[in-house]
Amino acid sequence: MSRIIIVGGGIIGVASAYFLGKAGFQAILLEREPTLGALTTAASLQAVRAQFTDPVNIAMMKESLDFYEHFNQMLDLPAEHDIGFHQQGYLFVSSEEEAAARMKARVAYQHAHGLPDVEFLEADELHRRFSYLAPEALAATFRAKDGWLSAHEALMGFRHAARRYDVTIRTRTEALSLLARGDRIAGVVTPQGGLEGDAVVLAAGPFTAQLARTAEIELPLQPVRRHRVVIGEHERIPHWGAMTIDEDTGAHWRPEGPGAALAWAEPEEPSPPQRHVSPDPQFTFRVMEGVYRLNPFWLDVAETLTRDNIFLHAGQYTVTPDHNPVIGPVAERPGLWVISGFSGHGVMAAPASARLLADLLRGALAPDGNPFSLSRPSLHQGGGEQMVI
Ligand SMILES: Cc1cc2nc3c(=O)[nH]c(=O)nc-3n(C[C@H](O)[C@H](O)[C@H](O)COP(=O)(O)OP(=O)(O)OC[C@H]3O[C@@H](n4cnc5c(N)ncnc54)[C@H](O)[C@@H]3O)c2cc1C
Repeated sequence: MSRIIIVGGGIIGVASAYFLGKAGFQAILLEREPTLGALTTAASLQAVRAQFTDPVNIAMMKESLDFYEHFNQMLDLPAEHDIGFHQQGYLFVSSEEEAAARMKARVAYQHAHGLPDVEFLEADELHRRFSYLAPEALAATFRAKDGWLSAHEALMGFRHAARRYDVTIRTRTEALSLLARGDRIAGVVTPQGGLEGDAVVLAAGPFTAQLARTAEIELPLQPVRRHRVVIGEHERIPHWGAMTIDEDTGAHWRPEGPGAALAWAEPEEPSPPQRHVSPDPQFTFRVMEGVYRLNPFWLDVAETLTRDNIFLHAGQYTVTPDHNPVIGPVAERPGLWVISGFSGHGVMAAPASARLLADLLRGALAPDGNPFSLSRPSLHQGGGEQMVI
């Protein structure tokens, strides 16, 4: 049996450990922190959607959302395990006159590429169904089966299910560097000494490129800071609402229990990977102003908020030039594998991407059947998926 070392205990590393264990590998996962999922996974907005515009993303997210929809059954977990999957939909809204034509074309493309349940909503229908929107909202696309969930519960579900297999999880264990034998990567160096395996999988989120550099490999991955604000209980928030994205600016919000969660991918320069990402306190004001434009109830919420009802967090997206993840072997270094670069979509992509990694490792999927390989041309030219929410 092959032994695979996974570096990183976020949702991607833990889902990978599950699928590798299930595929018959011996998997050893190393996580530097005392707990799993404490870095990017903990900062996520935890929203999940299949409403993408690149067919490879549509396929990956559809597989993942189907998995999340039947999570306990897929992992044979007890009924009380609850990932809090709310399928209240993703609503991309615009106030621009020309948006309707663009959205109609996009929806037609999605229908033709495996996503028949995306709706185009004209103004009347949009306001009838989403009464909280401002009169300026003119058109939208909506997919009712998109939504959000608890990334922590999902990660722990994979963790529980992995116990059935030969999977070991070592927290408080840092991979300091990769261990090379000639060209081959034969393991990792930890503070306790070397740990050898038949393959090393880098699932270290924003730290992935830094670790690859210890074996002189440059990966096209850049950490970029992103914020999330959670608002506690507030009666003016429509809790039945959708994940609502202002498509003209990118500002978005969604219900979260009795409150809401907000985010906005503002332009920001890449930064070195960080274990503690300091948030910009001004972000809360900017994002509320951002969502207020098409969701005017946010003015009432903002005016009546108290400091103890605002929870601001920041983490780092690990971004690739084409905004799609890298999953697969590193050709120059046999034995080295990567699963990272989710560019803000790792929670939604976790089940399908970890399944894909396991299929590649066990040879059930030929390398040329992998749209997320490190050799794909778009990784070196940029472009790719445009909806980067
Ligand atoms: C503000 C924000 C909002 C987001 N919203 C969404 C969303 O709505 N939907 C969505 O799908 N995604 C979202 N994302 C992205 C999502 O959170 C990430 O894609 C996902 O969490 C990546 O998981 P990961 O396991 O790859 O990385 P991480 O969660 O970062 O896990 C990597 C792990 O590796 C460990 N590690 C690093 N270096 C070492 C080492 N040398 N040795 C041992 N361990 C190491 C770290 O401690 C960490 O636990 C958001 C991200 C941010 C920041």
